[in-house]
Amino acid sequence: MTIPFRRVHLTGRELAYVSEAVESGQLSGDGPFTRRCEAWLEANAPCTRAFLTHSGTAALEMAAILCDAGPGDEIIMPSFTFPSTANAFVLRGATPVFVDVDPATLCIDPARVANAVTAKTKAIVPVHYAGVSADMDALRAHGLLLIEDAAQALLAVRPGAMAAVSFHETKNVSAGEGGALLVNDERFIERAEVVREKGTNRAAFMRGEVERYEWVERGSSFAPGELSAAFLLAQLEEAHAITARCVAIWNRYHTLLDGVVERPRAASPNGHIYYVLLSSEDARRRVIDELAQHGIQAVFHYVPLHSAPAGLRYGRTSGSMEVTEDVSRRLLRLPLWPEMSDAQVEAVAAALAGIARR
Ligand SMILES: *Cc1c(COP(=O)(O)O)cnc(C)c1O
Repeated sequence: MTIPFRRVHLTGRELAYVSEAVESGQLSGDGPFTRRCEAWLEANAPCTRAFLTHSGTAALEMAAILCDAGPGDEIIMPSFTFPSTANAFVLRGATPVFVDVDPATLCIDPARVANAVTAKTKAIVPVHYAGVSADMDALRAHGLLLIEDAAQALLAVRPGAMAAVSFHETKNVSAGEGGALLVNDERFIERAEVVREKGTNRAAFMRGEVERYEWVERGSSFAPGELSAAFLLAQLEEAHAITARCVAIWNRYHTLLDGVVERPRAASPNGHIYYVLLSSEDARRRVIDELAQHGIQAVFHYVPLHSAPAGLRYGRTSGSMEVTEDVSRRLLRLPLWPEMSDAQVEAVAAALAGIARR
């Protein structure tokens, strides 16, 4: 492909930081690079405490443990999302309750959440799709715990009680695999430290606050090693510039495609995804093939969770899924990565316009 969907970008300092980590002799988690990444997130995300994890999925799993989700509990979330949003809670025995999305944002529709709430509802998990914020004010009105899947939303939303971000290779800022749980609700901060450290009080022991290092609650191994943290720090230090570039590409696509195809209705504050909506699933198949003939790679997602095999087995659906089903058949993501040139953006838009005109 001449224009791939995404390309790994380096800021230039990654290898120097990784060498520094190797020379320091500490490769396990919670060393100086982890602390520097967490301090950056606390200042810039912003949040009271950031806990670096080995993936966005791990951060969601931590949140599921922290809210004590278990059998009999229901967790309201959109169906239009990545499986990890639901899987984290299914692992604890809780039931995902899938709700449709708002066509303007492709985030959970707060009006439909009301019908999904029962006495068993433990939390609502909005997904900030493409970096566009779900309607948090309307969701807060339900008075339930909100756990944000902010995997795509670094520097795009202000985190509430708990938010999971991802540093997977496909996200704007990446460590290959990586993530963080951003916490503002004081009730979860102390326990988050324990849950992340295999259920032990190791962090308090290292600070000299307790005499013994022991097993105190449920937890797992959620911390990344220092090599990943070193790589990530180099990316975080450039995160504002990376985001600005993604937003510029997003805006360029949006201008070039005006009147050509159906475009996103809400602007993305971090430019994580630029998508278009084609007339049908068949039209999308044809556009993908024709773009490929121009050397351009375009992809789609998601298979809605409510109709996926595991979603049918572990979850339930609340209300109509009309928007989710429609969008999942027609949405196409265009190539977008920070070092993409203006000429490449223009080539993609021109190829798409050529196909749309026929
Ligand atoms: C990327 C992503 C995840 C998973 O993050 P990983 O770091 O790959 O585990 C979860 N939810 C959404 C919405 C995502 O886009």
